[in-house]
Formats: sequence, C-alpha cells, structure tokens
Amino acid sequence: MQKQHDAVFIGIGLGTANGLGLEGGDKGGILDAIDFIADIRQTGDLSRIKLGRDVIIIGGGNTAIDAAVQAKKLGAGNVTLAYRRGADQMGATEFEVELARKCGVMVRLWSKPVAIQGADAVTGVTFEQTMLKGGKLVGTGETYDIPCDMLLKAIGQNLDTASLSGLDMDGGKLKISGDYQTSRPGVFAGGDCVHSGEDLTVQSVEDGKQAAVAVDAWLKNSKGA
Ligand SMILES: Cc1cc2nc3c(=O)[nH]c(=O)nc-3n(C[C@H](O)[C@H](O)[C@H](O)COP(=O)(O)OP(=O)(O)OC[C@H]3O[C@@H](n4cnc5c(N)ncnc54)[C@H](O)[C@@H]3O)c2cc1C
Repeated sequence: MQKQHDAVFIGIGLGTANGLGLEGGDKGGILDAIDFIADIRQTGDLSRIKLGRDVIIIGGGNTAIDAAVQAKKLGAGNVTLAYRRGADQMGATEFEVELARKCGVMVRLWSKPVAIQGADAVTGVTFEQTMLKGGKLVGTGETYDIPCDMLLKAIGQNLDTASLSGLDMDGGKLKISGDYQTSRPGVFAGGDCVHSGEDLTVQSVEDGKQAAVAVDAWLKNSKGA
C-alpha cells in the first residue's frame, strides 16, 4: 500500500473574538481590542489610528491591558478598564495592572456591562456591580454609567473552526496527541489553537519546536518502511 509522505502543521492561533452578548453590541465606536492593537502594530502613521476621547475597555487579560495602555498613550482623555471579577482572577499580572494605572488608566473591578447606550454610535455603558456569592459571580443590582465614544472588547478569543472540519476538538481547541498530531494522521498542530500550556508566545515557540521534531520522525517513519 502507498504510504502518505506529506505532513501539515496548523498554527492558526485564536482568530475569533468573543462578543459581549448585549443588545447594541454592533454600534459605531465598538471594536475588538485585538483589531485595535493590530492596527497600531501595522500602521506606519499612529496619527491615523481611530481613537475615542473617552475609551472603555472590557476585559481583564493581556489584551485588555495592552489596549488600555495604548489608548492612553495615543492620547485618549479618559480610559477605563472594567473587569467583572476581582484583581486575583484577572488574566493580566499585578505588574501589568499597576503599569496601566501608572499610565493613567482607571481600573474598575467587580463591574459587568449590562447595557450599551447610544443610538447609532456608543455614548456610554451601564455597569452592574458584581460579587461572589457561594463561589458564583452575581450582580448586586447596583448600577452606574460611564460615558464613552469608544468601546473595546477584550473578553477572550476563540479558535476559528471554519476551516478545520473533520478534525477532532477538545474543549474548543484542536485535539492533539502527545506528539502534536491531530486526529488526522500527518496533520500536526501547536500554539494557542491547542491545549499545550498557557496561551503565551514562549509556549507556542516550544510547541513549534516539539512539533517539528515529531513531524521529522513521522516523515522518516512513513518514508522508511
Ligand atoms: C494583545 C495581546 C497581548 C499579548 N501579550 C503577550 C505577552 O505579553 N506575552 C506572551 O507571551 N504572550 C502574549 N500574548 C499571547 C501571544 O500573542 C500568543 O500566545 C501567541 O502569539 C500565539 O502564537 P500562535 O502562533 O499560536 O498564534 P498567532 O500568533 O495568533 O498566529 C497565528 C497566525 O495564523 C494566521 N491564521 C489564522 N487563521 C489562518 C488561516 N485559516 N490560514 C492561514 N493563516 C491563518 C493568523 O493571521 C496569524 O498570523 C498576547 C496576545 C494578545 C492578543
């Protein structure tokens, strides 16, 4: 029987941003924080970046911190980062949160967005204060408003599965074996699109290295015998 001699490595990261799940989430001035950061990284002219005067960032991870700090450094007036849980549950480290505060970012914890204000474009967000009750996050019923003309969503990213049909999944990511092989022989994967460790650059680099060794062994084996 003819042996298969080709191998493929998938390292497509997490390309889809989560939505807020609120009515009016598509109003003008509402963007994914990763798109905002991508624009900053790719532009040759920072003065062309679309920036609000009052910016709210929703989320508590690296992306949220990055977007908040960048917005402040680019010249936004009021920048508020709102996170629905406490500092201990944030994905961002204490160091990063402190850095954001030092840059002038207002960090509001235990605050979840419950309504988006504005007709065509966002003019503000209503937040409800939250707390832990029996280990579960609940709203307290107390609300407050923050005006804004730009809202950046940084509430997590998902694997875009559109081009991955036929491959087994594991908790929203590609399922791999110990040698980084997916459920289809000869198709390997690594980085953020698999569960190999934390979603960090260093882990993705390590995945690529380990997967390259596995691909090499797989190719030698499939050609040899
Ligand atoms: C704002 C932000 C800040 C971060 N800060 C840190 C940090 O400080 N330290 C740290 O270690 N990590 C940080 N991370 C995480 C780090 O960026 C990721 O863990 C790492 O980039 C994952 O590498 P990857 O190669 O798996 O995916 P990615 O770097 O996301 O690369 C995937 C590539 O695949 C391409 N692609 C997607 N779909 C397809 C397709 N269908 N066909 C072809 N190409 C496709 C994408 O365009 C992209 O170029 C941060 C992430 C974000 C979003």
